[in-house]
Amino acid sequence: MNNFFNYNELSQLHIELTNACNAACPMCTRFHVNSPLVRPDLTIDQITIEKFKKYFPPEIIEKCEIILFCGVHGDPGMAKDLYEICEYIAETNPKTAVRMNTNGGMRKPEFWKKMGELFAKQRQDHWRWVITWSIDGLQDTNHLYRRNVVWENLMANAQAYIDAGGFADWDYLIFKHNEHQIDEANALSKKMGFMNFYPKKSLGVDNGQQLQRMSAMTREGKLDYWIDPPDNPKNRNLENPPVPGINDQFWEFDIEHYKNLKETKTTYNNYPERIKTTYIVLHKEHKDNKHLDDAEIKCKAKTMSGGKEIFVDNFGRVMPCCYIGTHLNGTHSDSHSLQLHYEMNKYGWEGFDLNKHTLKEVLDAQHLDRVFTDSWTKPSCKEGKMAYCANICGTFSRVDKIYTHDKMEDKNRNWRFKDEKSE
Ligand code: SF4
Ligand code: SF4
Repeated sequence: MNNFFNYNELSQLHIELTNACNAACPMCTRFHVNSPLVRPDLTIDQITIEKFKKYFPPEIIEKCEIILFCGVHGDPGMAKDLYEICEYIAETNPKTAVRMNTNGGMRKPEFWKKMGELFAKQRQDHWRWVITWSIDGLQDTNHLYRRNVVWENLMANAQAYIDAGGFADWDYLIFKHNEHQIDEANALSKKMGFMNFYPKKSLGVDNGQQLQRMSAMTREGKLDYWIDPPDNPKNRNLENPPVPGINDQFWEFDIEHYKNLKETKTTYNNYPERIKTTYIVLHKEHKDNKHLDDAEIKCKAKTMSGGKEIFVDNFGRVMPCCYIGTHLNGTHSDSHSLQLHYEMNKYGWEGFDLNKHTLKEVLDAQHLDRVFTDSWTKPSCKEGKMAYCANICGTFSRVDKIYTHDKMEDKNRNWRFKDEKSE
């Protein structure tokens, strides 16, 4: 029996403070079919300062080198107690570094100035406190992916934070509409005082075989516009697609149907029923999954210093990583995602809940190992090996190329997971 996710080795936390967001990025799993409408089954919640102190008492904070606020369905900038939570960490253990990612469009410059002052007062060495701003273009392009983010507000917020002394990085997702602006954005980042500029190769613009267009849908369920993969192969994960052409499938939806789903908080794709079919699907896919069956899994929850990171969602549920957090909070209909839900449902969610157990109890009970780690050495996915883990952290990881752009600054960006949701 494995003892991978153990309390003694816990050294990093990735926490989703809230699943609320001011933006509406088409690829984000919090939305209904690439539209700006929140998924009908989603309950919006957040970790308040009271809950944070309960879930993460001083003995947990003291174990952590890094606490990351990023998340999978929301932006930490929307959490009402964000400042107080950061203050609590700073006061509890000056050795713990806070890192967070935001689209930066929410709140006023006064708030971000206060954040900058707090972040500037913390450690200034390798473990410094940093906010990463997800800015995918310039004034005329950022809002195409980061829908609803107002450029002027974003710039004023970032500048207020930097002027107050806060360390800032700039993450830049590359698409066709902004690939010509990489150098200009980098120059702007330097002028504003950002520390590092990271061009990122976006997921969602290929299917592993062929390039694909990402649809941005209206609130009425119609196609609004396309987000296209970069023309320059060096700006893409899939540089040389084996299948020519471009996939431009998209799904319209009926707004009245959406309203009905919202009233009953049900998923649009009958998800609970689909989960039951998981192993029928995996048996059918068996021949295609040989590379996953054979893959050796190197879990990314192992940190550079040899410790372990875990993910906690905004409901207080402990999960092994943000990749799995994305899918267990989502309704993706592929077999890998269905299997995660199936196995969690079979095992039971109760033991993972920080509202009922301490984090030490959750880890000491080895629930994460029983559901995830123990599966990695099973002979095949159809016999229970987690296909999702094999795909993300197996021999041919599909997320390892995101941070491989030529113009990456600080090529050792290794203090946290490479996030799948393109935050
Ligand atoms: S990807 Fe991030 S910024 Fe975009 S909508 Fe989702 S949570 Fe918000
Ligand atoms: S996907 Fe699986 S193997 Fe990869 S980091 Fe998460 S738990 Fe570990």
